[in-house]
Formats: sequence, structure tokens, C-alpha cells
Amino acid sequence: MIVETQAVGPFFKNGFVVACERTREAVVIDPGDEVAALLAFAGRNLLTVRSILLTHAHVDHVTGVPAAKRALGAPVYLHRDDLFLYERAVEQGAMFGLHVDPLPPVDEFYTPGQIVPFGDYEARVHCTPGHCPGGVCLQIGKVGERGDDLFVGDTLFAGSIGRTDLPGGDLATLIKSIRTVLFAFGDAARVHPGHGPSTTIGQERRTNPFLMTE
Ligand SMILES: [Zn+2]
Ligand SMILES: [Zn+2]
Repeated sequence: MIVETQAVGPFFKNGFVVACERTREAVVIDPGDEVAALLAFAGRNLLTVRSILLTHAHVDHVTGVPAAKRALGAPVYLHRDDLFLYERAVEQGAMFGLHVDPLPPVDEFYTPGQIVPFGDYEARVHCTPGHCPGGVCLQIGKVGERGDDLFVGDTLFAGSIGRTDLPGGDLATLIKSIRTVLFAFGDAARVHPGHGPSTTIGQERRTNPFLMTE
């Protein structure tokens, strides 16, 4: 599996290209202001991007969707419960004093247990609300194998957890999502957060100050 991570200011939000090394099929996850670097990586490596997958619709995670959609023509996936955020991306940007291009319509709303295939791999969609109502974890692995790479958006970070003071956020719901959904993937699972470095479930279960109390 090929994983390319890019982040640029002002948000330093991670955008990802995840690709199958054999078929060169790929998905783009959360294209933001770093979208040009993600598209360049896909082009340089002759990747065919099948889908644009969003972990949630906060503005930093969607500013690159117009450019990604224009360049790739691939369907945009989002959880329906974050549509209210997606539809207000331009206003969300204005709150930060940023210009945000209008977003293309969402093509597909995630359904429970949905699997999005690309090459020999698949992304399995798990609902992890709390940071926002429509947050999801994308569990990626080879078809038929246990997916050990988790793209968790802003639900869980190395040493921290997502904020819950934005519209639709709820701390108890967030903690429940982390404990019941993310921890169930096991200590070896790799966590690729929306901001900052990667980590593992085991590392966070043992040392994350927000999650250590039973
Ligand atoms: Zn967020
Ligand atoms: Zn974010």
C-alpha cells in the first residue's frame, strides 16, 4: 500500500493519497489546501484516483475538493450528517478570513458498513461521531484482510483528541466513538490523524491523557 501525506498552512491539515502498488488505483482523502501536492503525487506515480473520500466536512478538510473534482472527475463521498457543514464551507472559510471556492455536490453519502474498493485494497467506513455529527473512520487494507490503517479525521490525534466545541460536537459521543469503534481495531492498528503525526491505537490507549481513565 502506498500512503502519501501532505500538509500546508494555515491549517496544517493532513491530506492523503492511498494507492494500490499493483494496479495503481487510488483514493484521495480530505483534499485541502495541499491538494496541488496530492494531485502532483498522483500524476507523478501514474495513479488512477477512483474516489475522493472525506472523513468529515470542516473547512480545512474540504478546501481542495473543487480542484480534486475538476482534475480527477471522481465521486465525492461524505456522511450525510455532515452535509450541513459541507454546504456552509464558504461561510466556514469566511469565519477564518479565508476565501473558499464553492464545493461541488456530494456524489455519494456513506451507508453503514460501506466498502469503497480501489485495486487490491478497500476502504471500510465506520461512523465515529463526536468531533462533528458525520465524522467517519476509513479503515483501509487489502481485500479480505484485516485493515490496519485508520484514517480517523479529527477524532483522534497523537496525544490528543478532537475538539467538541464546534456545531454538532459532543465530548461524550467522541470518547464513545474512540473507545468502542477505534480501540476495537487493536493495538497494532496505525492511526493517520487529520492533523499531526501518525500513531497507533496501542500508543494512544496507553499514553493519551484524554483516554487513560477507565
Ligand atoms: Zn475537524
Ligand atoms: Zn481538521
